[in-house]
Amino acid sequence: MGDVILVVNAGSSSLKFQVHEVTPDGTLAFSLGGQVSGIGAEQPGFRARDANGAVLEDRRLQPGDVPDLAAAQEIMAGWLQGHMPGPPLAVGHRIVHGGPRMSRSVLLSHDILDYLDSLSPLAPLHQQNNLAPVRVIFEHWPEIRQVACFDTAFHRTQSPVVERFALPNEYYERGVRRYGFHGLSYQYIAGRLRETMPEVAAGRVIAAHLGSGASACAMVDGVSRETTMGFTALDGLPMGTRPGRLDAGVVLWMLEQGMNHDEIQDLLYNHSGMKGLSGISNDMRTLLASTDPAARLAVDYFTYRTAESIAGLCVAAGGLDSLVFTAGVGENSPEVRAGVCSRLEWLGVRLDEAANAANAQVISGPDSRIGVYVVPTNEELVIARQTHDTIRGML
Ligand code: ADP
Repeated sequence: MGDVILVVNAGSSSLKFQVHEVTPDGTLAFSLGGQVSGIGAEQPGFRARDANGAVLEDRRLQPGDVPDLAAAQEIMAGWLQGHMPGPPLAVGHRIVHGGPRMSRSVLLSHDILDYLDSLSPLAPLHQQNNLAPVRVIFEHWPEIRQVACFDTAFHRTQSPVVERFALPNEYYERGVRRYGFHGLSYQYIAGRLRETMPEVAAGRVIAAHLGSGASACAMVDGVSRETTMGFTALDGLPMGTRPGRLDAGVVLWMLEQGMNHDEIQDLLYNHSGMKGLSGISNDMRTLLASTDPAARLAVDYFTYRTAESIAGLCVAAGGLDSLVFTAGVGENSPEVRAGVCSRLEWLGVRLDEAANAANAQVISGPDSRIGVYVVPTNEELVIARQTHDTIRGML
């Protein structure tokens, strides 16, 4: 193995990593990846695979082994030291919020870290976790270059009208804007379409990233025009534990009822969405397998709001040529895709049932006016490429 880029994606319950080798022609080749999962949970584990899918590590850990992200980082760092040829050329981090200043990936400094830290209230589930490994590397390996790759940056192409809330201008100036998220995923989708179906990429595309977090994005010629998440990752589509679109008056009512900030935040980030609606689970697989009417209601709500948002995004795209499903639910659930698409039949969307059931790349039927596709996302590859591009001029 020659020079490598290390990608780190530190979430609330998992720490994912990938190693990409810089080949002699300057492109990147995935060499291995893995994750410490179940951080702070009952059944933590550590798995890693190489580029051929061969299992390099598959360890069940005891709950006490991984009480927090710091413990997960130690496990990852120890393992990587035995599996990387030497220090990486650079480490690329997934950072959920770049605020108004970040419209592309950036070499991290202590000043930038302070700025990103100040954005933490805008992404309470993610930002501090994302920044934790940056701090550890600054402390223990200060000579290693670190690059921040943002979920918000891809959307900085959106128009001023789209970026605004209808609030006094003062709030916009203070940063209360629609930033949008899942940008690394949408950038991957845009690039992948360009490589595999350039005529689709050049058109009006709506991509639906449906995972435990969920959003949709209107793109024209691969450029973001509008997305459903806004100031924070709470807005837009319903999610595993977040409600999506919510009348701001509900929050005022909660305050009036005596709930404090932390209680409301916990409710909106951890106990709403599919989990709250169903009272059963935040996991779409569990809900789809359940016959409980509350589980059916949650799935219906999810497909209804997703279809409704896709229809709304058509305004930003100026119409619709192609619809792309991605992420855990979008890539794997024929039932959810069918639920969304059946609500868009008036737009000319028709699924090929067999192709949909098989999670095929093209799932629209020959009679569909809109091309419908399943494209597995790869946010880590985008981070590796952005990291390499950011440091390339410095080598
Ligand atoms: P994240 O990266 O945001 O944690 P993912 O993109 O991995 O999320 O998506 C996780 C979601 O995908 C979970 O709700 C899980 O239930 C769902 N999922 C995974 N496989 C399937 C499947 N076969 N059918 C339905 N949902 C699935």
